[in-house]
Amino acid sequence: MNETHDPQTKSWVTSANQPGCDFPLQNLPFGVFRRKNHDDGGIGIAIGDQVFDVRAWARDQGKSSAEFALLTEPRLNPFLAAGPQVWSAARKALLLLLREGAPQRELVARYLDSVSNVEMLMPMTISDYTDFYASVFHATNVGSMFRPDNPLLPNYKWVPIGYHGRASSIVISGTPVKRPSGQRKPTTAETPTFGPCAQLDYELEVGAIVGQGNALGEPIPLKNAAQHIFGLCLSNDWSARDVQAWEYQPLGPFLAKNFATSISPWIVSMEALEPYRTAAFKRPEGDPQPLPYLAEEQDQQHGALDLWLDVYFSTRKMREEKVAPLRLSHGNFRDMYWTFGQMVAHHTSNGCNLQPGDLIGSGTVSGNTKKARGSLLELTWRGAEPISLPTGESRKFLEDGDEVIFRGYAEREGHARIGFGECRGMIVG
Ligand code: MN
Repeated sequence: MNETHDPQTKSWVTSANQPGCDFPLQNLPFGVFRRKNHDDGGIGIAIGDQVFDVRAWARDQGKSSAEFALLTEPRLNPFLAAGPQVWSAARKALLLLLREGAPQRELVARYLDSVSNVEMLMPMTISDYTDFYASVFHATNVGSMFRPDNPLLPNYKWVPIGYHGRASSIVISGTPVKRPSGQRKPTTAETPTFGPCAQLDYELEVGAIVGQGNALGEPIPLKNAAQHIFGLCLSNDWSARDVQAWEYQPLGPFLAKNFATSISPWIVSMEALEPYRTAAFKRPEGDPQPLPYLAEEQDQQHGALDLWLDVYFSTRKMREEKVAPLRLSHGNFRDMYWTFGQMVAHHTSNGCNLQPGDLIGSGTVSGNTKKARGSLLELTWRGAEPISLPTGESRKFLEDGDEVIFRGYAEREGHARIGFGECRGMIVG
């Protein structure tokens, strides 16, 4: 850790110093924004309730400096490709501009705008998207419903299971999600029918953004995997459960998943998350140890992250009646069976190449308790236990007009609290 993690350092942007603020000086997440309908957008940093227009700053003031030169690009990809030294130098330079007593304060203040005045865009071009299945609790819950006799398949504790998702349908938080149609066959029906999804669901996930990639044919060993991840965001892997149940065998998810995936707009760097690293999930007695290419001391000691993840929910009626969004779940990312390092090492172990800006989804984050279940499928047990809402409504799955809001944050004794902001999406018919 370094001076950018010091919890005592305050910003001259006073909103960043408020307790509970997601974006204090210790966070400095990267995003791409534009002033509403104003231009094509560029890279910015969230600080308190403000956005620092790094693109304009770099263009006007700092283009000769290596740490800011790549931040004049329209998206983060060239910066991501530059690697940890450049990321770290930029973070430190930003700290020096935004901390209390910064000599350039008055000049920098001209490059701030209120978050409420800007529109967030996709922070990077995502060439490829892979979604893992790294929560053993989620895998066991889903398996119990889809295959009661055989909930957890025998490969689960050996292989970080994943599938290749669809990059073209990844959308930024706030983008409405259109209910997909698809083929589904209730167990009681003889034949399938085609029509609107009747079991639409969310999946609470953490997304890792790839920094430097690897050449085709050259695996990333686990000991180097952490250096290839730039940062994390929140991700909603919207899922059509009725379509999924019918289509998923034998090749895995397809149209049940690829109609939309939402991500939160601010990418929190791994450097900002350093204080919240923690030991990898402790495998229960009797579970196999990971194979050697998935086992490494540093990763076992510090490869997991202590992040709290909450799901909030509102219906159209709740909003009309001014009822606040209801929290549906509260879980922690440290409960994942596999670390992001293991996922990167496994993904590239056959020589598959990752590219800067690729999105790697963790899989649904579910914990050991009912409160920590990261999907409606699990919370309602496939509709058997509907959720009661303050308006008298109830839900088994998502209805049109429903809005799902993810929030995430890290806090630990002796360190600042930092957050991810929100990942939102509303269902439209
Ligand atoms: Mn998923």
